[in-house]
Amino acid sequence: MSSTSPAGARLPSQPTDFSNLIGGRFIPAAEREVITRENPAHRVPVSRYPRATAADVDAAVRAARRAADARVWSGLAGAERARIIGQVARLIEARREELKVIECLEVGKPIGLVEREINGSVGLWDYAATLARHTYGDTYDQLGPQTMGLVFREPIGVVGMITPWNYPLLIASQKLPFALAVGCCAVLKPSELTSGTALRLGEILMEAGVPAGVVNIVAGEGPDVGRAMTEHPAVDMISFTGSTRVGKEIGRIAADGLKKVSLELGGKSAHIVCADADLAAAAEKVLLGVVRNAGQACVSGSRLVVERSIATDFTEAVIERARALRVGDPLLPETEMGPLVSKAQQERVAGYIAAGEKAGAKRWSREAGPERDLPGFFMQPTVFTDVTPSMVIAQEEIFGPVLSVIPFDTVEEAVAIANSTVYGLSAGVWTRDLDKAFFFGRSLKAGTVEVNTFLAGAPELPLTGHRHSGVGHEKGRFAVEEFTELKTIQLQFATPAM
Ligand code: NDP
Repeated sequence: MSSTSPAGARLPSQPTDFSNLIGGRFIPAAEREVITRENPAHRVPVSRYPRATAADVDAAVRAARRAADARVWSGLAGAERARIIGQVARLIEARREELKVIECLEVGKPIGLVEREINGSVGLWDYAATLARHTYGDTYDQLGPQTMGLVFREPIGVVGMITPWNYPLLIASQKLPFALAVGCCAVLKPSELTSGTALRLGEILMEAGVPAGVVNIVAGEGPDVGRAMTEHPAVDMISFTGSTRVGKEIGRIAADGLKKVSLELGGKSAHIVCADADLAAAAEKVLLGVVRNAGQACVSGSRLVVERSIATDFTEAVIERARALRVGDPLLPETEMGPLVSKAQQERVAGYIAAGEKAGAKRWSREAGPERDLPGFFMQPTVFTDVTPSMVIAQEEIFGPVLSVIPFDTVEEAVAIANSTVYGLSAGVWTRDLDKAFFFGRSLKAGTVEVNTFLAGAPELPLTGHRHSGVGHEKGRFAVEEFTELKTIQLQFATPAM
């Protein structure tokens, strides 16, 4: 297959080989059974990862355990950890083009969107570096004249990190630098579908000066590598991002070993649009909110809850924008939406579209353009009207470019519709009325509520899922709490002899 993008990104003639990182040693694909990743737009093999064995997982966890127990990382001054974490950010920037192409080819994500992801990742490493110098406890000096309490924040130890395929570098960057900032060691297992950028990150970490064994990265399948990590007695905490189904399973297994868990799970975000809003801006963000990464985002705004007086016109504006959407080859800089990640995902989304029609909702789907010539797993943006809140398409996470439109008459009704799923990850609100903005902000059951913007985010702001969207939080200064545990030292003094 020939070169595709005028910007220089191209389909490789050979798949790129990657290595696992265990105890500071790179284990190349040639030394293990190989996982081959096919690009989901062109259906050609683009990457080869070594499939970690059970012995590899054990070796990776033991390497992290040894590093944690020997305090090779937590024993460094916070300023030194900050310097190295900051250096990782610089090296990600330096290898930006390479990382962009890997992620574009493996996920099928438009190259322009990957650019944002790299920027977001750099921002996370830079911000987390500041926390390495701001991790501290409390002193209690009012306990009595001769007693004092000191409360330390200690790194929790070895963190097993399991990440999904949809934003591989970004999600690894929501966990790893924050755990490193407070002195933890880690074993990271990326998704077997898109492990390339996480494995490149291993090289970057070593080059930046992270000591051997502090971070280990192993590619492999969830039910064996991910599960083995979750069960391993030398792991102190599991930090998981993925589906609610697997998250619950991980929570159950971790409970047996009394491991701490942090679970960032699925969502069914509502976008509430009031008649007083800037409707042009809202229509743009509502559409982009559900087609970004082909709808394969936990925070995807997959429900449009719109004031009835504007529902027809507003939905038409969203559809108009969807008609103009540039769907196609992810390597082309102008592409706005690429394919779904796999055939299984394509079938899953098609199943939901069929379920929506069967339930009586009215479907509009964009007509395919030139992308129909590509052999990949494309799925056209789809908008359902005549949706009731209890329909499957309005309740379950579809993880595709499918929007369900539900009208409302009162703000109370909008809240009831938005809160009617088991999820509670994020929500969007569009209004110029401050009273309404606060009413929605307080009433919506979601970890993040964005007003007059969508999918903005910032490293300073925590990401947290309520209800079935998760337990715990990532990013922001609260990540320090997540990856540390408290230790109290109480001191009793005698009166000094003079
Ligand atoms: P999965 O839950 O299928 O997989 C997530 C990770 O868990 C992958 O690395 C997977 O490995 C691994 N895994 C699978 N089974 C097990 C198991 N039994 N034990 C241990 N690990 C396992 O999710 P997807 O990768 O399909 O990602 C999509 C989901 O992630 C969506 O539900 C989405 O909402 C959620 N998500 C949540 C985010 C948040 O911040 N709340 C952000 C992004 C996504 P492998 O892939 O190799 O099988």
